[in-house]
Amino acid sequence: MNFKFPLNSFENIQTPFYYYDMDLLNATLDSVSGEAGKYGFKVHYAVKANANDRILEAIRAKGFGADCVSGGEVKKSLECGFPSSSVVFAGVGKADWEINLGLDNDISCFNVESIPELEIIDELAAKKGKVARVALRLNPNVNANTHHYITTGLEENKFGINQWDLEKVVACLAGLKNVELEGIHFHIGSQITDLLSFKDLCLRVNELQKWFVSQRIFPKVVNVGGGLGINYEQPDEHSIPDFESFFKLFDEFLELMPGQELHFELGRSMVCQSGVLMSRVLYIKNGVQTHFAIVDAGMSDLIRPALYQAYHKIENLSSQLENEKYDVVGPICESSDCFGKAVDLPQTKRGDLIAIRSAGAYGEVMANQYNLRELPKAYYSDTI
Ligand SMILES: *Cc1c(COP(=O)(O)O)cnc(C)c1O
Repeated sequence: MNFKFPLNSFENIQTPFYYYDMDLLNATLDSVSGEAGKYGFKVHYAVKANANDRILEAIRAKGFGADCVSGGEVKKSLECGFPSSSVVFAGVGKADWEINLGLDNDISCFNVESIPELEIIDELAAKKGKVARVALRLNPNVNANTHHYITTGLEENKFGINQWDLEKVVACLAGLKNVELEGIHFHIGSQITDLLSFKDLCLRVNELQKWFVSQRIFPKVVNVGGGLGINYEQPDEHSIPDFESFFKLFDEFLELMPGQELHFELGRSMVCQSGVLMSRVLYIKNGVQTHFAIVDAGMSDLIRPALYQAYHKIENLSSQLENEKYDVVGPICESSDCFGKAVDLPQTKRGDLIAIRSAGAYGEVMANQYNLRELPKAYYSDTI
């Protein structure tokens, strides 16, 4: 299924705005459930990828859980109707009020990243007379081969518990009365396109599981996080990521103990191709080597190119002329406010509609008001 642009409906809408193809979103979600369902795997959607109401509602309606990384996300997921039994809470720096919020709502699991955090959860749970379910987030020291800003599973990263601390953590856990071990958790990074990184993760999880067995510890859940990448270069050829190969790889290489559940936390791959950022060309200006196409969307609407040097495919939906090269830039007073350099676009003029593709994840949710710009609005294929 392909992304569809309702060009007529766009005519009277003020740019910039996000637009979501709900048919493509639903087809993507069906593919995730179908492929994960083959093996009985459970998927929690990583809310941070896109926490827009309509998107969350569509995801909840398909029966996915919610993976949260802040109290705000826990609150939002519960308000949106995700059952607390399918809300998990990760994050390297959970504040007391965020932990209390999770405890008050009996969320299914805290993914814990350090001994001091474990002790605080125990203390806060004790005050409420509760026992918190926790999973230990282990740093597997596996390279995700992705941008260094979105690599999370190496020893040098701030995330997770490193191997050399594991014995201490397990000993600490045994002495705490108000936390109980539910599982072990991993997340090695984001926008991972080489499935071999996930195979490395599986092999590492198998090793760690053997260690747990040797300690007579049997975690009920193994949670391998998210990170499946999408194809930013060819959003139409690959509008739905290859979930089949992804889940099959885990089935093949990850050795579960009898009765153990395998959980995933996918974000980007579930929503990314279903969203675009639409903008219009304000001015064309001649540069030294190329033309500048100055558009009305900026890094405040979509920060990924400025933050991670991320590539997004850019299309001019209004012109059929010969291609020329353009630096597509926004209006914000930063040189990093650039969506693409030397982009091949059909000859472009003021007023042309520009689509910045694959913007459904880490797009709208990261929008901000720098330069006192307005936040971009969102429109949906089924209500436009
Ligand atoms: C961000 C994040 C995810 C989702 O990552 P994607 O690359 O969007 O799939 C999953 N788990 C945790 C703990 C995360 O921080």
